Amino acid sequence: MRRQPFVAGNWKMNGSCVTNQKLVAELLESLGDSSAAAFAVCVPHPYLDQVSRLLAGSCLALGAQDVSPHESGAYTGEVAASMLLDFACRYVIVGHSERRSMHAESDALVARKFGAARAAGLVPLLCLGETLAERQAGDTLPVLFRQLQAVLDAHGVAALADAVLAYEPVWAIGTGLTAAPEQAQAVHQALRQYVAERDPGVAAGLRIVYGGSVKAGNAAQLFAQPDIDGGLIGGASLDAKEFLAICQAANI
Ligand code: PEP
Repeated sequence: MRRQPFVAGNWKMNGSCVTNQKLVAELLESLGDSSAAAFAVCVPHPYLDQVSRLLAGSCLALGAQDVSPHESGAYTGEVAASMLLDFACRYVIVGHSERRSMHAESDALVARKFGAARAAGLVPLLCLGETLAERQAGDTLPVLFRQLQAVLDAHGVAALADAVLAYEPVWAIGTGLTAAPEQAQAVHQALRQYVAERDPGVAAGLRIVYGGSVKAGNAAQLFAQPDIDGGLIGGASLDAKEFLAICQAANI
């Protein structure tokens, strides 16, 4: 099955009204509507309004970096999925390793966030990834399957039909170390197989993107792998030239 390639930028906690305006203008100048791939930028919550206005009517979709598992109420500091929709968000990252590790987000909490996103009509970008210690212990796949299974237990395999998986080895995020294309492909293939054992149709259509120090110089090789359907891009998404080159590499 031909899956539409997808590239999303994760700005993390970076940007300002001035730099956002410049970055988005540079991206929109070069991203054509005729692309075979889909593109998005996931911005910090305070900039959703600004970037939503800048992107209106463009081929670049808007995403957020986190969502509350709750619908509304006394949850100080939290942002509900319905609020993200108010700013025309289409995507939201859930389970990023920085949130799992720095904010102690459990697999169960990530699954609840995934459910809240879907219930509101957002597309969750579900991040899965192993640490270096887990990889060295030979636990890569068990860790990824455990993270994924929490979502399958809570929402069923059909829920993945409206989601994107992002394989993001923790040891490759922001470190400059990238998984070799074959190494990443092996993991993506195993993840697709795990889903296929539960629903072959969902697995065939499921976009599994790679994240971890993707740059203009390594994107094409990664995206050429049969089970790598694009990328989730951190640092390089803050540089218009780099991000555009990565988008171009997915436009195949
Ligand atoms: C990320 O934050 O999702 C990420 C992949 O970061 P980087 O590209 O900087 O490694």
